[in-house]
Amino acid sequence: MPFTATVISAKDWGAVPPKAWPEETRPQYVIIHHTATPNPPNDLSSGTSAGAKEFSQSLQSAHMNGFGWYDSGHNFLNTTGGFLLEARQGSLDAIKRGRCVRSAHAGTDKGNESPGIENEGTFNTYQMRSQQWNSLVELCASICSSCNIDPNNIKGHRDFIETQCPGDWLYGQLPRLRNDVRKRLGTPVPADDSLREGATGAKVTQLQQLLKANGFNPGPIDGAFGSGTVQAVISFQKYKGLAADGVVGSVTWKALTSSTPSPSPTPTPTVNLLDTYKYYRGLPHQDQAITWLNGKVSKDALDEFSRRWRNSPSQPFLPLQVGAVGPEVKQLQQRLQQQGFNPGSLDGSFTVATKAAVIAYQQSKGIMADGIDNVKVIVLTYWKISAKIMIS
Ligand SMILES: [Zn+2]
Repeated sequence: MPFTATVISAKDWGAVPPKAWPEETRPQYVIIHHTATPNPPNDLSSGTSAGAKEFSQSLQSAHMNGFGWYDSGHNFLNTTGGFLLEARQGSLDAIKRGRCVRSAHAGTDKGNESPGIENEGTFNTYQMRSQQWNSLVELCASICSSCNIDPNNIKGHRDFIETQCPGDWLYGQLPRLRNDVRKRLGTPVPADDSLREGATGAKVTQLQQLLKANGFNPGPIDGAFGSGTVQAVISFQKYKGLAADGVVGSVTWKALTSSTPSPSPTPTPTVNLLDTYKYYRGLPHQDQAITWLNGKVSKDALDEFSRRWRNSPSQPFLPLQVGAVGPEVKQLQQRLQQQGFNPGSLDGSFTVATKAAVIAYQQSKGIMADGIDNVKVIVLTYWKISAKIMIS
């Protein structure tokens, strides 16, 4: 097939000369971009020929004056009105001879050796109108034909570097673009049992169920491959590190069916054992409860619990008894005094007087009276009583 696309040459839209002429390359791919500019009705070219030329000029200016490039970064521009324009100068002539010129659109040397087509618009969800689509097909077919490039090598910018470009929707349409180009070239379209947008039936239902089971929401499970299913497929593909094109071929299908669903997060416990222990300590039926719990916990967990219970280097969990000294004893003495018991001098030294005060306190609260206690229990009890007074 000859080069049939109608392309406005850079000279015809008034390009300024390049700062340097690029070297010729042997192209292997056709690389699809979007300009990430507004879609109709706010498209910068307004869908007109004059608008397309102005848009091309503004892109060249941005690339040369903003980025410091020698010329437009891309090789071709396809506007919303379906106008095709040469961008980097020399591209059109080179392509017609089966060659290309080194450009700056792809972000990698490998990509920049092949022609890049900027499509006016932002195609994350927005769907390209037929006029622009048809001109894209015509240009791709012309390039593939002239340069002997297999339509399989029509790629998205994101196949070369980490980028959103050319948008999830347009990227997802690349299989259709390749097929349309094959049809235009008159080469056979390979049989393809991939599932893609627009497909319906039991297999789509199964796909939607698999997506859901894997934690990706395709919307209603209705056997219709719509935009919700496309988005869920793209999210799944990204999650799995697959080419995120929204089309379910054998690789994606295999990943979906072999994937074990991610475990649901551990539910937040409704019982806080620490609080349970603190507040309900020492009641007779609790031994039974603890014994029951004991049987539910693994030996390893119990051994570790036991170790931690015994040894806490930062804050020893020691009974306070006669002979103990330290700030905790002093705090205990202060609490006892505030509660109306006389622990002796508030000197942080657990004396016989302190022990007598603890026993008196314990008896008054119905706690087993041993004159030994842990300051935390005393403090806790104190605060519980204070809180009750404040509430009542
Ligand atoms: Zn791009």
